[in-house]
Amino acid sequence: MKNLLGGKGANLAEMNLIGVPVPPGFTITTEVCTEYNQYGRDKVVELLRSDVEAAIKMIENIMGTRFGSNENPCLVSVRSGARASMPGMMDTILNLGLNDDAVAGLIKRTGNPRFAWDSYRRFVQMYGDVVLGLKPASKEDMDPFEVIIDEVKERKGVELDTELSVEDLKELVVKFKAAVKRTTGKDFPVNPWEQLWGAVMAVFDSWNNERAIYYRKLNRIPDEWGTAVNVQAMVFGNMGENSGTGVAFTRDAGTGEDIFNGEYLINAQGEDVVAGIRTPQQITREGSRRWAVLANISEEDRSSKYPSLEEAMPAVYAELNATQQKLEDHYRDIQDLEFTIQDGKLWLLQTRNGKRTGAAMVKIAMDLLREGKIDEKTALKRVEPNKLDELLHPVFDKSAIKKARVIAKGLPASPGAATGQIVFHADEAEEWAAKGKKVILVRIETSPEDLKGMNVAQGILTARGGMTSHAAVVARGMGKCCVSGAGGLQIDYKARSVKASGQELNEGDWISLNGSTGEVYYGKIQTIDPELSGDFGELMQLADKYSRLKVRTNADTPHDSKVARSFGAVGIGLCRTEHMFFEGDRIKAVREMILSNDESGRRKALAKLLPMQRGDFEGIFEAMQGLPVTVRLLDPPLHEFVPHEEANQKEMAIEMGISPQEVKAKVDSLHEFNPMLGHRGCRLGCTYPEITEMQVRAIIEAALNLKKRGIEAKPEIMIPLTGTLEEMKNQEKVTRDTAEKVFAEMKDRIDYLVGTMIEVPRAALVADQIATSAEFFSFGTNDLTQMTFGYSRDDAGKFLPIYLQKGILQDDPFQILDQTGVGQLVQMGVERGRSTRNKLKVGICGEHGGEPSSVGFCHRVGMDYVSCSPFRVPIARLAAAQAAV
Ligand code: PEP
Ligand code: MG
Repeated sequence: MKNLLGGKGANLAEMNLIGVPVPPGFTITTEVCTEYNQYGRDKVVELLRSDVEAAIKMIENIMGTRFGSNENPCLVSVRSGARASMPGMMDTILNLGLNDDAVAGLIKRTGNPRFAWDSYRRFVQMYGDVVLGLKPASKEDMDPFEVIIDEVKERKGVELDTELSVEDLKELVVKFKAAVKRTTGKDFPVNPWEQLWGAVMAVFDSWNNERAIYYRKLNRIPDEWGTAVNVQAMVFGNMGENSGTGVAFTRDAGTGEDIFNGEYLINAQGEDVVAGIRTPQQITREGSRRWAVLANISEEDRSSKYPSLEEAMPAVYAELNATQQKLEDHYRDIQDLEFTIQDGKLWLLQTRNGKRTGAAMVKIAMDLLREGKIDEKTALKRVEPNKLDELLHPVFDKSAIKKARVIAKGLPASPGAATGQIVFHADEAEEWAAKGKKVILVRIETSPEDLKGMNVAQGILTARGGMTSHAAVVARGMGKCCVSGAGGLQIDYKARSVKASGQELNEGDWISLNGSTGEVYYGKIQTIDPELSGDFGELMQLADKYSRLKVRTNADTPHDSKVARSFGAVGIGLCRTEHMFFEGDRIKAVREMILSNDESGRRKALAKLLPMQRGDFEGIFEAMQGLPVTVRLLDPPLHEFVPHEEANQKEMAIEMGISPQEVKAKVDSLHEFNPMLGHRGCRLGCTYPEITEMQVRAIIEAALNLKKRGIEAKPEIMIPLTGTLEEMKNQEKVTRDTAEKVFAEMKDRIDYLVGTMIEVPRAALVADQIATSAEFFSFGTNDLTQMTFGYSRDDAGKFLPIYLQKGILQDDPFQILDQTGVGQLVQMGVERGRSTRNKLKVGICGEHGGEPSSVGFCHRVGMDYVSCSPFRVPIARLAAAQAAV
């Protein structure tokens, strides 16, 4: 029904059917909008004329009114209503049907000339704007109707519209009409039928106004859908003290609590409730009391000046309360409703499923399930996986954020709220944090060297870098708030200052980040810890009951592993060993290895690293208690580990007992024009097998050490960036030979797997060959996206935002898996791999493994698991369940 009648029309019709009082009306379907766009006005009028005439007759008969009558005129509203809600994007016309006769009729009916003339002038104004196109000539110009109003007000010496007399309002109507004639060369239409057709076509036209087109693009609403038009008898909330209007929710949209709540105003129109000129009153007595406490208003003042609807109009309230229950029972979801009370009679103008916070989404779904109103599968589908994020990170105090000032905006790289003092260097972040200070690390961009500083910071802000930049990926892994790519920042490391929106901030100044919106605020803002309620746990259990895909995590430390397990990860899908290379003193040994001139020098340095890596793996295996752990061998280009600044090179030289020139020469020799396509991944292990040997030894020894302590470890050794079978076979052989050596030395064995990342397009194409050697595949969709599109992960920030803005791309392919292109390679990789090894274990460990639509895709192509950063594990679990139900 929604497709044809639009959301508003369908709900109005449905409310009518279940006996909820809605003003009589009719809906012109979305199909007509499409026909209008194709054939134009005349054809559509011809098609609709008899139906519309009959429908208006119906309204007139029900209401006892007549179009244009000077006794009891029929007035209607004409509103848009698309399939998907597009709030405020399209046009609406109210009070249609008014002319000089009808206004006299309205006065007779209401005995209120001021109300009647005010309605009339509002109608001429709205119609003149929306249908006849009398708008400001440019953005500097004023609305032509407002110019007239201002002239009259000035002459009368009044400030507010409400101070205008009946005579003034009459004058406005005359002047408005004259302005219409001047600009359009035609008289303002006095015939209600003519008015109606004009309004219907204008609503159709508004489907293609600039903001509606933009909104559709943002929300991926197809242009072909079109809007329906709802024509409904007007009801008035501003007819006196026995009238009113309001908005209500059947439950609390912020917390999910099952309490009816909302606001209303006596003697007012819908727009007055939102305009903020008058203080809206609460609907229930309880809500009103809660509100009074917050607003610091005494009970006496509250009950006399701001009574609830329950107190002010008990009978209407009782009917509204019964109606809200009926609507919620019918739609089986929280409803957001609009109502009007005209002369003591309640009318519902709209109902729709209420927008809600993540916390409310979970609570409402689980409450409705317990109440028996929805089944388990529906409860699962009711929660948007991404919304769970809000429940996992600290949040800003609501009242504090309202007063805060935004000074910059970047990408919402890692959600959460962070507040702290600015520092510009990672080592200083550590020093400050050690003194118990809260810091925000502000960098032009981050590199693996900044890891420790990032880890102790409350949040990370970078001027460059996209959603898969180093800062973003690492921050998400840490569950740390991060705003990346805030291009408006001018950072001066030397001066230790940053310019944002013309303001200069220095080291030590307080700023706050909202990692969910990308907003950067000036000053310190109070944050609060989220509460993971029992409902969250229950929802997760329900998700596991229905999902087939398992959810693992990307984790490099025992701490992250434990966090991920507490969120329900059933293994590690990616342990990036290079992150361990930056811990403590070991970076020195790593650099020594890289700067060595020959194998024996490298082996000497690697021997120093071995015990440290083994210790890391023991910690992780222990944290995972027998769950599978995929350890990836060294992947990044070696130059990422060496010092590029002169001072650090000197330090290095002293330590290695060589000259600074030698260090510099070696560092220079590691320079690559295109490091992402250079000497990295398995190319390192194939050229320096001793690196693979050391890492495999560390893994196997760690597992055997744990076995001695009675703890099971299930290592899965993963070769990165494989593109040919020969590379895979080469690394498999080094791995298995090393493992056998360790088994012999330690006189014990364990089970382990050897597999590969599929992240080079060629690997997907020859997956059948690679699977003869690899026991599992893990799709590295970060690199696979990079190489399939040919977009550099590190440089895409320069053009991707523009591509998105221009609609050249619908989504950032580094965030949302490009199912059409990259997806083909993934699907082909899975199918071809399993054609040679039918039980091949397949997963994904690129960033997409925690993105709901991509998780759905992974389910459909038959993967066994997805792996994502710890804080996305619950999101992936829910997305996996939704894909299965
Ligand atoms: C990938 O490429 O998808 C991947 C997980 O590896 P990394 O991000 O470390 O290159
Ligand atoms: Mg990769």
